[in-house]
Amino acid sequence: MNLRKWAIGLISTALLSAPITTALAEEADTTSGASQTSEWYADPATLKESYDIVIIGAGGGGMAAAITAQEAGADVAIFEKMPIAGGNTSKSSGGMNASETKFQKEQGIEDSNDLFYEDTLEGGKGTNDPELLRYMVDHSAEAIDWLDSIGITLNNITFSGGASVKRIHRPEDGSAVGGYLVEGLLRNIHEKEIPLFVNSEVTKINETDGRVSGVNVTVEGEEKTINAKAVIIATGGFGGNLEMVSEIKPELEGFVTTNHEGATGDGIRMAEELGAAVVDMDQIQIHPTVEQSTSYLVTESVRGDGGILVNQQGERFTDELLTRDKVSANIIALPEKYAYIIADQRLKESVTAINQYEEKGIVTKAETIEELAEKLEIPAENLKATLDTWNEAVKNQEDKDFGRTTGMEYDLSHAPYYAIKIAPGIHHTMGGLKIDTETHVLREDGTAIEGLFGAGEVTGQVHGSNRIGGNAVADIIVFGRQAGNIASEYVKQ
Ligand code: ADP
Repeated sequence: MNLRKWAIGLISTALLSAPITTALAEEADTTSGASQTSEWYADPATLKESYDIVIIGAGGGGMAAAITAQEAGADVAIFEKMPIAGGNTSKSSGGMNASETKFQKEQGIEDSNDLFYEDTLEGGKGTNDPELLRYMVDHSAEAIDWLDSIGITLNNITFSGGASVKRIHRPEDGSAVGGYLVEGLLRNIHEKEIPLFVNSEVTKINETDGRVSGVNVTVEGEEKTINAKAVIIATGGFGGNLEMVSEIKPELEGFVTTNHEGATGDGIRMAEELGAAVVDMDQIQIHPTVEQSTSYLVTESVRGDGGILVNQQGERFTDELLTRDKVSANIIALPEKYAYIIADQRLKESVTAINQYEEKGIVTKAETIEELAEKLEIPAENLKATLDTWNEAVKNQEDKDFGRTTGMEYDLSHAPYYAIKIAPGIHHTMGGLKIDTETHVLREDGTAIEGLFGAGEVTGQVHGSNRIGGNAVADIIVFGRQAGNIASEYVKQ
């Protein structure tokens, strides 16, 4: 493959085109130390007429599926409509939930697949598909091992909203998972010479004699029909399609979105054209902590590692580690409809994502609590009293005010202090294509569309009506791998 030559072409295209430059800039901002290397993308001249498996979308789900399918012996290609790989996965700011992992065991964290299942079901208000959820939790440790085996090590574990034990696995340095994961998956795609075509939008999935037979794809502006024995849809959600969101849920009109611009629901539309069933389309998650001027998401780890939320009066108003829907509702119920996340120096050193927020210019820093209050125009005596009470609660391991029980290992007493103003934003679409545990895309009557598989945010019902932080990455890796394996078995038949 002539990857290097193509790389130079892509970089110059990127520099010449404003929207592409913006996308690259955003990517650089949202990934922690990830260097998106364009030389990892395939030259369109190397595109073949047919593959065993075509994968639509190069987010975490699509790339995990591609690597797994190739390991299983299939000839695969990935089409990505954006100029870069990564999708919403790149923006994933927290980590990956997994239970009974070797890293938890090494660190003396007691967890079980059953507890992971229960926490997720509770978070999803009991509406998760029990079989899909069971499959995800039971294969989560294996997914952590698989990632580790391909050089993606998630061994820094902390609390996250809705989890009763430390379960969210992050890169060793505590940085956001997204950039690290995407970079690691891309490195594997490159090393294993899996062709990943960017600027390649799939517009239709084709069927012949009742079986999926390939796709129509526009590669660098040129329309092609590519044959495939199987197609894996890994196109992500529709949280970037504000029209679709507000059509389905009018009350979300006007909300900012944390989604990348390619999250437009294409996979759902294309599969529906083949008779696929959709589930829970109105289950759209808003994330409580989004900086509104940049739509930049402040990771749940800031709260999981000890951060608190205060209102404009400088008072706490919620258990900060309730599930996202509840924390969001508590913020929206405030007269000002926004809040501040408060952190200290120790927390900043633990959650290095805060450095990125500082670079983005969304962090207020102060040497004392009084100075912080002044900068935020909060009554200083209130903020001081709130922090004193909170630090006392941490010391006694008892939050009398809001009953918080997790993320209370460290108090907030190390200057300087930091604050980020946040409010909820559209984050994740929990509904989507109906699949079974083998990732077959199903029709309304429960039968599978032959040769069609789906994984990741494009699918529905894994998370029920509220996704727990850390479960999107678990979902894409577990089901991405499963789609890769099952589709490979299918094409060998
Ligand atoms: P997941 O987390 O499920 O892997 P992501 O949002 O990370 O989802 O990735 C989905 C990817 O699919 C994105 O990079 C997006 O640009 C891509 N995509 C969406 N629609 C299409 C399409 N029609 N053709 C090719 N790629 C697509």
